[in-house]
Amino acid sequence: MIRVLVWNEYRHEKKSEKVKEIYPNGIHEAIADFIRDDDIEVKTAWLDQENCGITKELLDNTDVLIWWGHMAHGEVPDSVAFMVRDAVLSGMGAIFLHSGHHSKPFRYLLGTSCNLTWRESGDSETLWVIEPGHPITRGIDRYFTLPHEETYGEPFTIPTPDKLLFIGNFSGGEVFRSGCLFERTNGKIFYFQPGHETFPTFYDKNVQTIIKNAVRYVAPVYREFIDCPHVRKITDEETYVIK
Ligand code: ZN
Repeated sequence: MIRVLVWNEYRHEKKSEKVKEIYPNGIHEAIADFIRDDDIEVKTAWLDQENCGITKELLDNTDVLIWWGHMAHGEVPDSVAFMVRDAVLSGMGAIFLHSGHHSKPFRYLLGTSCNLTWRESGDSETLWVIEPGHPITRGIDRYFTLPHEETYGEPFTIPTPDKLLFIGNFSGGEVFRSGCLFERTNGKIFYFQPGHETFPTFYDKNVQTIIKNAVRYVAPVYREFIDCPHVRKITDEETYVIK
């Protein structure tokens, strides 16, 4: 079983009628609905729960964390963000969606500002597959188009991704590194740009396929926080020495 935790800020859905109409049970439930499978169990958590709904024990028992946040990144305490960062360094997989590019855990993992250019003008977006042989792009054609997305553009001030899987091209002209993979110690991190709250992006079949593929890809194969121990020298008796 892959144990997934979908974390959502869950504020837009309460404040905006338009967002509530698209995601009546919250973005986290919409994501949980299409992720859940025979081999994938899903829990959810959100910002206004005690300690953001996150404990170390919960993270220790989570294989993949999916994160959606936007208007309240600053309300996530550093203690929670560092707990998430350390879980990823230990091997927990993480998927940061859309405006999660500015979340504390993402920035603490990548170490840069993760800024970008943006515009809400209802542009369409065509996402182009860069690596057709990658497990995350399995089942996706050469490209697919979302009728409306928030425009995100370069420069996107992330470290150079370990793999670039998608480039988004907006009708307003911008291009954006829309699907990026990073490895940090034992953890795999996938950033995926679509998912603005006022568009029904998480009901798009291609978006669902990509996120579900990513869940299976970033799930840990090895999990341990690598510490910094002082070690003694290995003696000649303990090793084979050519004399
Ligand atoms: Zn947005």
